Amino acid sequence: MRIGFIALLCCAWLQSHAQTVVHWRTLKQAEVAFGCTNCLWDGDSILFSNETDTVRFYPGRRRASVNGNTVWLNVLPEGNVSNGDWRLGAIDLDFIKLGILTATNGEPKQLHVMLDPGHGGVDGGAQSKAPFVFSEKHLTLDLARLVGARLEEAGMKVTYTRTNDLAIALDDRSGAARKAKADIFVSIHANFSPNAQSSGTETFVINPAGYPGTPEGSRARGFQIGNANDYLNTLLGYNIHSRLVEMDSKAPDRGLKRQSFFVLRETSCPAVLVEIGFLSNPSELLKMLEPEWMDTCADSIAEGIFDYASKVDALNVAVREKRNREFELKKAKVEKEKLVAAEKIAKVVPVAETNIATVVQAEQPEQDAPVTNTVEKTVIEEKPAEKIQPAATNASPESIFDFYSKK
Ligand SMILES: [Zn+2]
Repeated sequence: MRIGFIALLCCAWLQSHAQTVVHWRTLKQAEVAFGCTNCLWDGDSILFSNETDTVRFYPGRRRASVNGNTVWLNVLPEGNVSNGDWRLGAIDLDFIKLGILTATNGEPKQLHVMLDPGHGGVDGGAQSKAPFVFSEKHLTLDLARLVGARLEEAGMKVTYTRTNDLAIALDDRSGAARKAKADIFVSIHANFSPNAQSSGTETFVINPAGYPGTPEGSRARGFQIGNANDYLNTLLGYNIHSRLVEMDSKAPDRGLKRQSFFVLRETSCPAVLVEIGFLSNPSELLKMLEPEWMDTCADSIAEGIFDYASKVDALNVAVREKRNREFELKKAKVEKEKLVAAEKIAKVVPVAETNIATVVQAEQPEQDAPVTNTVEKTVIEEKPAEKIQPAATNASPESIFDFYSKK
């Protein structure tokens, strides 16, 4: 029992400290992926653009911009832009291209949405100090109700992790989404910082397995339940975040970030956590409590969910196609390796045949010819290789395997 526990601890330590192998993409590969004919360096950022989209990367920074919205990268880009030797993490290229840009609008799906107003009961969440004391739990419940009303108006099914001032455990929140078989889970929160000037909106989805969260330095974890939806999480997080940023141009866009919060890693459907603004910022608190602002914020979250609902089918198709391509590539690689192995076997066939013939002969029952056995063995060792050698050398790999199987 004790050894098992120590082994479990070791596994957990190895999982959290295992080095992630980063695959890189060059400028040229990124150009092709984003459908650009040329990327530009404007002295501060590398810009990829085509008729519909613009993507900016800032060398030496994890902060990037997709169609004007801040998206934090999983991998810090590397290299020197001036000589073209600059590299972007393949995982970020995939998430931006597939999880954000590829999905086009289609017929919106009628989703079952689980809304999760943060905190409740004895857990008041963040608490403002000025201009008055106010608990996060009230704001999150009011806003969730407003979002839910908009979704229901549009025909979507809505359930809540709480509808009154009750404390709900985190695993009960994730469990509620699983039991209800919800299509998506949206957790609503307001932020807090010791710096009273901090302001703006940030939206979180789970970080991919093995990659650090945002901000950098937070602990990387192994594969979590939420990682099964990495692409859908990105699509949902980006669409809600971009709508929230659009609604209030004066509020800083703190970005689509990644963090392994409990409700993001333990929820089995696509999940997102929004931090709509800072209770610790007195002027932002007053703004957030205005009924018009709350209405607009609810509209924005609902619009982001509608955007997701109209793109989710296209994303699922794109991910399926990507996985099929990867499967075909792996299959081709295995076939090639089999071919190389077969060629190596073909080169050693004459020697191998001699040895096999010896073994076969040695295994013959001695009663047939006990006296002459030794002589025959010698003959077989010296001769058969001449007969077999030409056919084996010229044969295709399959025929060589056939040859052995007939033996
Ligand atoms: Zn909170």
